[in-house]
Amino acid sequence: MLDLTFTAPKPKTIAGAREDWELVIGLEVHAQVASKAKLFSGASTKFGAEPNSNVAFVDAAMPGMLPVINEFCVEQAVRTGLGLKADINLFSAFDRKNYFYPDLPQGYQISQLYHPIVGEGEVLVEMGKGEARIVRIERIHLEQDAGKSVHDMDPNMSFVDLNRTGVALMEIVSRPDIRGPEEAAAYVVKIRQILRYLGTCDGNMQNGNLRADVNVSVCRPGEYEKFRENDDFGLLGTRCEIKNMNSMRFIQAAIDIEARRQIAILEDGGTILQETRLYDPDKNETRSMRSKEEAQDYRYFPCPDLLPLTITQDWVDGIAASLPELPDAKKARFISDFGMTEYDAGVLTADVANAAYFEAVAKGRDGKQAANWVINELFGRLNKDDCAIGASPVSADQLGGILDLIARGDISGKIAKDVFEIVYTEGGDPADIVESRGMKQVTDLGAIEAALDKIIADNPAQVDKARENPKLAGWFVGQVMKATGGKANPKAVNELVGKKLGG
Ligand code: ADP
Ligand code: MG
Repeated sequence: MLDLTFTAPKPKTIAGAREDWELVIGLEVHAQVASKAKLFSGASTKFGAEPNSNVAFVDAAMPGMLPVINEFCVEQAVRTGLGLKADINLFSAFDRKNYFYPDLPQGYQISQLYHPIVGEGEVLVEMGKGEARIVRIERIHLEQDAGKSVHDMDPNMSFVDLNRTGVALMEIVSRPDIRGPEEAAAYVVKIRQILRYLGTCDGNMQNGNLRADVNVSVCRPGEYEKFRENDDFGLLGTRCEIKNMNSMRFIQAAIDIEARRQIAILEDGGTILQETRLYDPDKNETRSMRSKEEAQDYRYFPCPDLLPLTITQDWVDGIAASLPELPDAKKARFISDFGMTEYDAGVLTADVANAAYFEAVAKGRDGKQAANWVINELFGRLNKDDCAIGASPVSADQLGGILDLIARGDISGKIAKDVFEIVYTEGGDPADIVESRGMKQVTDLGAIEAALDKIIADNPAQVDKARENPKLAGWFVGQVMKATGGKANPKAVNELVGKKLGG
């Protein structure tokens, strides 16, 4: 198990406020299902396609077209629910959320208001230094994405691209258990990590495949605890919802600035209007989009084109049996199996690709050494080149080959770094490189001894000093390494130096 201290969520207070305030935050994360086809049509979901090229008749809402549920998308929602330790609802149903927008040809979005496919779950969010919180999940429902209005292609006209219309989204709704900007970002990072492990969403925020609506309110110290006891939302402050955030940095900045705005209003004796706001990163401010009073009445009703969705426990059990090892479990295993620190285990499990790479290198080798090499040498080098692990010039096989050469005593750890650099920049098999470039370690004791004897003969004064102060023997080790071009086996050199100078 992970060695974590579960602390009550530590509320973030806002510096500069006249009185004490705490933040309360709930997130609605929209995660695009990693499916090749849309939720109710066979049209492609490929990103970056020619505008309006991935549009089936049903996506364009042609008369008489009927939606057909994509089983794969349903399966991904169930997988996600299981990954978030949530209840799976064997009965769920789709509803129409009616509103007009140019990029929504149907005039409604098909969603799941009354009967979502996934119920309550929870996520462990680590806050560093061994501290963690549980954020409760309220529900996950399936819904369609809308299209995109394009305003910057023509001075006089706007265009509509329907490629995104009908793409499957999972809306993951948290309870208002998040107490500060950093925690909100840590929560989204964790959700993204789990989704990527599950393979149900690629988590790409730049492409808009993962985005969050952030609900923020402020309250007096003690009020949140009362809310938790009574589960009465009336005990919390009025919230504002900041729409469509797609970067961790903006999420934090938006929460901070929105909390400050609300506190300033409340301290001046004003009241907060429940409204939907937009964050403007250029001005670092949130602006009202629409208030609850003027909010649309969505006139939700069950979608008459779709039967309720019924799934069987057997099917759910089958999906549960196919779940991969998830981040918390993997991290705990890395710590216990490889004796690595929590920090290192965190780095290696942060992304499913990192973990897979490390496990391939560590297989049948010294795990601690493998962890060191992957984190310090490989990740360090990749970072320098801004290169993703998937595009690493050194494969897990090649790095493993380098570790094998160290283990066999063919090269020292120091030479191994040179070999790594050669493999990184030029490619090739590490063993061949060591052989053909004469990088093999000198373990021939005779050669090492000859080099050492010459150094001893040439430096009588140093020899006397070293005999008095054994700490100075290191100088001789260094000289032998230098004389052998760094190829002498350091262990052998140390032993020989000790024997000759030790007395
Ligand atoms: P809506 O559909 O109107 O957005 P939801 O019931 O879906 O309402 O809730 C949206 C989100 O707002 C949830 O994540 C919930 O936890 C959060 N939330 C509700 N009340 C508050 C509050 N007072 N402060 C902060 N977040 C809140
Ligand atoms: Mg909502």
